[in-house]
Amino acid sequence: METLWKKFLDLSRIRFEPSAFETWIKPINIKKYENNNLVLVVPNDFFKDWILENYYEQINSIFNELTEQNINLSFEVIKKEKKEEHHEIFHPKLINKYTFENFITGPSNEFAYAASQAVVNNIGGLYNPLLIYSNVGLGKTHLIMAIGHEVYRKDRNINILYFRAVDFMNELITCIRFQKMHEFREKFKSADLLLVDDIQFIAGKDTTQEEFFNTFNMLYEMKKQIIITSDKFPKQIPNIEDRLKNRFEWGLTVDIQPPEYETRIAILKNKAKYHKIDLPDDIADYIAENINNNIREMEGALIKILAYCSLTKKKLTLDVAKSQLTDFIQKKNNVLTVENIQKIVADYFQIKLSDIKSQKKLKNIAIPRHIAIYLCRKHTNSSLNEIGSKFGGKDHSTVLHSINKVTKLIEENIEIKKTVENINNMLTKS
Ligand code: ADP
Ligand code: MG
Repeated sequence: METLWKKFLDLSRIRFEPSAFETWIKPINIKKYENNNLVLVVPNDFFKDWILENYYEQINSIFNELTEQNINLSFEVIKKEKKEEHHEIFHPKLINKYTFENFITGPSNEFAYAASQAVVNNIGGLYNPLLIYSNVGLGKTHLIMAIGHEVYRKDRNINILYFRAVDFMNELITCIRFQKMHEFREKFKSADLLLVDDIQFIAGKDTTQEEFFNTFNMLYEMKKQIIITSDKFPKQIPNIEDRLKNRFEWGLTVDIQPPEYETRIAILKNKAKYHKIDLPDDIADYIAENINNNIREMEGALIKILAYCSLTKKKLTLDVAKSQLTDFIQKKNNVLTVENIQKIVADYFQIKLSDIKSQKKLKNIAIPRHIAIYLCRKHTNSSLNEIGSKFGGKDHSTVLHSINKVTKLIEENIEIKKTVENINNMLTKS
């Protein structure tokens, strides 16, 4: 075990940038290695969040390489920081922290919040379906899961089914292939509350739309509640059949806008309080002023400085915040970096940042990765090798392959062409 650890450190020193290595890799320790299960320990919760979001894949692939096994990697926090004891009830399939209590309201989101609460009190009633739409990182998933938890708290017997539209599609494909359509339909038929996240992903997928249309009708007729999120107003989702869009508008459609300054501050303060940290006003102000249209990004910024300070035992000051947040803030000054582009592409496809940098060959990850590489070449001055090194250590020919692939796809596939254009617009606008 010690040898493995030493080899890992040696290799990481080369694979990671020196500052990343010093700050994020060195503090890690090995705890257990048995039957391909590897447990690493990290200093605290922020650290763990940050690693999972940013370095998980890279670390995992280094261990796979060293052991020539498929390592099942997990992280533990050294001594669990004492969290408030709470005896809340959570739906087992939903993320615990996405509750109404943790949702801060302000003018930008209070209509969506009120509508969500109204639905909890009247399942399958007037607001069916409820459709919530907004840009990414503004709380759709949080709200839809909050509804799930709350309904579950009121009645444990209500069958709640949450899924992302992509998962609906993938499961459908599997069931078609293995002739399990009957089970597929039974599963959805039994839902009392159907929560569908990011419906825009079924755009252009005809079979999936057909099946979803049937599922929708069946549940609707049985007066079961359906809640849908989307990144656009229904009428503006391209390549979704009109009959489906019409149905989305049968109930209530609400949007979430980017939060106002005061709401952003409140969200940051609340998040800090959750971690029992006293967040100085000037730092909250700095983050809220500079990151204003994506709450996830704002939280990421906060986590990063909290993790950094807890590790280095540095005092949380504005200067520290400024020096740690250059990646997050640069975007504003129109300097596109490989990191910015990776982040924006990952957000766009709703995949993990670490997946973009990984070697995974799954199509839903590989295509976004090719696109990210293509866009990095287009918008930064980085060389092929530099780009490759930031995508988990690829060589220049692999990078070139991605660029050629996307160039070809853009010519052949109208969907991809549009997607790349959309992301391009986001990059040049931001
Ligand atoms: P979306 O699904 O719209 O992309 P998410 O629901 O995933 O966005 O939200 C992104 C992050 O921001 C999550 O961590 C979520 O908890 C947080 N968040 C969003 N809105 C709020 C809010 N009003 N109050 C507190 N946290 C929020
Ligand atoms: Mg979401």
